[in-house]
Amino acid sequence: MDKEQSRGESTTGISEWKTRPPYSVHEKSSGFDVKYEANCHCGKVKYQLSRREPLDSKLCHCTTCQTQHAAPFQWAAIFHKDDINFTNGHHDLEWYDPTEKSIEHKLPCKVRCSFCHSPIMDEGRNMILLFPSLVHLKTDEDKAYFKPRCHMFYGQRVMDVPDGLPKWSGLSGDSDLIEDSPPDLVREHERKREEERNKKMAEGKPDEVTKEGTQDRSGDGGANSQ
Ligand SMILES: [Zn+2]
Ligand SMILES: [Zn+2]
Repeated sequence: MDKEQSRGESTTGISEWKTRPPYSVHEKSSGFDVKYEANCHCGKVKYQLSRREPLDSKLCHCTTCQTQHAAPFQWAAIFHKDDINFTNGHHDLEWYDPTEKSIEHKLPCKVRCSFCHSPIMDEGRNMILLFPSLVHLKTDEDKAYFKPRCHMFYGQRVMDVPDGLPKWSGLSGDSDLIEDSPPDLVREHERKREEERNKKMAEGKPDEVTKEGTQDRSGDGGANSQ
């Protein structure tokens, strides 16, 4: 409601930026071609995307992302500001400026649901970096479009992700590339995990172990599930 709106205003009067992309509402007649639907955890914030393939898709390991997302790293897909259509425009959103540490709309800033506080996107000066975990990716093809293409700020990581993707120490394309963990080290790590599983099994918790084991082997999500 109005409380949240005023918190987002860094300028006086009715903020003009709320009527511009990415917050302008596309009417049905505008020809906005819906390719994906997305929503926050509580469902108050809903949006659509008109672009099938993100301009880029990255995993960011910087400490700001770690704190803001309470996660080891963050996944973001880059879109143009007019690729997105928030069903309720600027309503039910809140803004945070991580540079000034203030609750206001000052680019670049973080955008969240004002009710459940799910992170929705980072709004930059020219682009938006939205969080694909909110997007309903229904087909394998859709998932492939959004698949992360590189890691950035890998120098600040809390865990290794040996997935063969390029890893930038800082900003992608503008820092040093860090080598993936050597394959034999990864195999050694896997072997130890297997050993621990077997030990647990022997100690008599077969149900737990089986469940964990299945999850870990179900694909490359194993690295993320830790
Ligand atoms: Zn929400
Ligand atoms: Zn980051």
